[in-house]
Amino acid sequence: MTSIAHWINGRACQAEGPTAPVFNPATGEAASAVPLGGAREVNSAVSAASAAFLDWRNASLSRRSEILFRFRDLLASHIDDLARIIVREHGKVLSDARGEVRRGLDVVEFACGIPHLLKGQISENVSTDVDTWSLRQPLGVVAGITPFNFPAMVPLWMFPMAIACGNTFVLKPSEKDPGASLFLAELFAKAGLPAGVMNVVQGAREAVDAILAHDEVRAVSFVGSTPVARYIYENGTRAGKRVQALGGAKNHMVVMPDADLDQAAEAAVSAGYGSAGERCMAISVVVAVGDAGDPLVARIRERIGRISVGDGLVAGNEMGPLITREHRDRVAGYVGKGSEEGAKVVVDGRGLSIDGRENGFFLGPSLLDHVEPGMSVYRDEIFGPVLSVVRAESYEEARDLINTNSYANGVAIFTSSGATARRFQHEIEVGMVGVNVPIPVPMAYYSFGGWRNSLFGDTHVYGEEGVRFYTRAKVVTARWTGGAGHGLNFPTTK
Ligand code: NAD
Repeated sequence: MTSIAHWINGRACQAEGPTAPVFNPATGEAASAVPLGGAREVNSAVSAASAAFLDWRNASLSRRSEILFRFRDLLASHIDDLARIIVREHGKVLSDARGEVRRGLDVVEFACGIPHLLKGQISENVSTDVDTWSLRQPLGVVAGITPFNFPAMVPLWMFPMAIACGNTFVLKPSEKDPGASLFLAELFAKAGLPAGVMNVVQGAREAVDAILAHDEVRAVSFVGSTPVARYIYENGTRAGKRVQALGGAKNHMVVMPDADLDQAAEAAVSAGYGSAGERCMAISVVVAVGDAGDPLVARIRERIGRISVGDGLVAGNEMGPLITREHRDRVAGYVGKGSEEGAKVVVDGRGLSIDGRENGFFLGPSLLDHVEPGMSVYRDEIFGPVLSVVRAESYEEARDLINTNSYANGVAIFTSSGATARRFQHEIEVGMVGVNVPIPVPMAYYSFGGWRNSLFGDTHVYGEEGVRFYTRAKVVTARWTGGAGHGLNFPTTK
């Protein structure tokens, strides 16, 4: 069985020590092994990153952006190779994996403009003959810890921005699908990135704890589930690090009675079951307002019947398996729990078997209607192809339900009324809002992040907030002429 390597100081390093299997979720077979790195691997990655930092922060902006442009071109010409690695380890269908890489590529393209993004401001003559200007400087060694569900896109949210800003980087990808990160590190090296600027340590909790404990790691970007996000935020900030920790989600889609119900049903199916519901911006709850409920559920049910589930590498399939057998069983359990708690199971995806892929981690799309806020299917992040429909009497009831949910990552409203849409975007307390758009992931030149338990920390990822997260501000005040007559008083302007 092949073993996935770490990437430290510009080269792949095969590791000794414990490993974990990496499954192909479509077949259920262990396809490779991932080393579970710990303090030793983290220490060598951080040492390499520390040693590379001074030269890299002093590299001119043109040099940094030239390397990023080359990385951009290499990535663009390898979308298919990377997408295939993702499908084999994650299970999502090939077109979806290509889409993930393209959204990551958008961030690389944004990072190519780093000379513009790092421009400061200058004020001439703040006092006679005195000028003041601001600049942003890199932090040093920074780390990223990423989830299984976007093995290329989420790392690409982080390291191109951090490195463009002049930092050096240690990435700890998900141990469930580690191949994409290694491929990205190799491509960046081919683009001319000096050794040590980008490192990948494979592993799980032990590697994460070693990152949090390491004095030289100045900042940590995390994306994953809420309990781990909270853990990273609390421990990272206690150790004096800057931390942005993005957590889980329970995204609602409000459908008003005046919405185009065909469009809304199409959107709910695509956002609920795409990538088997394993997206942090997946819609997991449809809130049907007033008399939208019955016709909407009928339309969603009809569309579910047309979803082709199977191996992501087989053309025509729209939904693949879940990431592991345990996760599939956990998600399937919610269909039973929902029924026990009083929801109506409209479509039951349990027991699905795919010819030739009987051991794959498949679960068919499932639809639960008349879900109530007290039920576990409503409260918990399920992270699978189980869509709940909650009925609400009014817009206000739908809004209050969402504003009191503990998660606040993404939300959408479907309506034909501009006034209702405007009221919603104004009143809703969620980080990313879609109007007739079910998965409102901001483009690379905005920033991504939720509110409440979906984000711990103050800055969102990528975009201009990414630049702020990965840099420190400095303000310089300078005089080159005059200056006689300093007294002991606090300086004032003249
Ligand atoms: P996870 O929290 O289990 O793992 C994320 C990372 O943390 C992995 O690298 C993992 O190795 C590490 N980790 C896991 N348990 C740990 C522990 N106890 N201590 C220290 N490190 C630990 O998440 P996942 O299952 O890989 O990903 C799915 C979750 O990520 C979902 O909750 C989803 O909503 C969330 N997610 C959020 C966003 C967002 O932008 N808010 C984006 C993608 C995924």
